[in-house]
Amino acid sequence: MWRRLGTLFGLGEVLHLRPKPRVLDARSSSIEIMATTPIVYRGNCHCGRYRYELTLPREITTGTTCSCSLCVKKGYLWVAPPEGSFRVVRDDGHLVEYGSKALRDKFCGHCGTGVTGEHIAGPLSGEMLVNVRAIQGVNPFKLEPHVTTVETPDERGTINAAGDASHVFACHCGNVQAQLLVPLSELQVKEDNCSSCVRNAYVGVYPTKDQVRTHGKEHGFEYFGLGAEETGRKWGGVVHCSTCGVFVFNIIYGPPLSIFDKLPPERKARALEAYHRNVSLLPLNLRAVEGLHREVQLGSVGVERADEGTEDYAERLGEWEVV
Ligand SMILES: [Zn+2]
Ligand SMILES: [Zn+2]
Ligand SMILES: [Zn+2]
Repeated sequence: MWRRLGTLFGLGEVLHLRPKPRVLDARSSSIEIMATTPIVYRGNCHCGRYRYELTLPREITTGTTCSCSLCVKKGYLWVAPPEGSFRVVRDDGHLVEYGSKALRDKFCGHCGTGVTGEHIAGPLSGEMLVNVRAIQGVNPFKLEPHVTTVETPDERGTINAAGDASHVFACHCGNVQAQLLVPLSELQVKEDNCSSCVRNAYVGVYPTKDQVRTHGKEHGFEYFGLGAEETGRKWGGVVHCSTCGVFVFNIIYGPPLSIFDKLPPERKARALEAYHRNVSLLPLNLRAVEGLHREVQLGSVGVERADEGTEDYAERLGEWEVV
């Protein structure tokens, strides 16, 4: 995350960030091999404390989304792997289980990524499901035209916005909330597929801090990105509910101001301007907005999308399997 924030603050040079490579799916260029050789996919939560491998007879070219309230709030995109194809490679014991009336899922209690689930209602009932968004080398943006959506009724009611708010953003259990005080239509809405955003299915809405009232941050946990603990680069935190795991809002702290002194003077002023603009924001996750897919239609919001890809994420994750 600090890498993304670094780019955002114009600090690419200082942090030695490489230019973004074009996203190429290595697997898609080896069609002949694919026909005969099973594909081993690697999947993991963003922090890598939970990792698995999925051995499939063919490439993942499609997925399923579900209309149940928990699937909507987490932006789950599912595949149902055949029995025996899923192997846990690492499990540091951070997975948290949560259950709605329709779905039981597991998410990482350190970084918040939802990894697996099983429905207890609806057409997906009984199948062990894996979240495609946490699988390396699969770009959900590319799958989109082939995704099927299933209808699963469940009983979660809508949490209403307080008097002066236009919308309420809430986790599934309701413990973590943010009231948006300006109309959604006045704000920028952006989506990308970097390693962190893709796992959260993050669709970002960008109000300033004075346009939002947050509640229940103490019921959540903050994730600062891969390597943030080690480097101390806690420049922005993603707030997930500790109980249900839904990502509701971001807190942007920005880098320490001293870092801007390393920039040439002509760039410093511009970078500082970006810094002040960014730290004034309190981005919300549109997936958590109450009434999404009912009152609020994702398609009508006008999402600006960047097919950013996951850069050198797999490399930064370090050694895949420690035996
Ligand atoms: Zn994790
Ligand atoms: Zn569902
Ligand atoms: Zn919750």
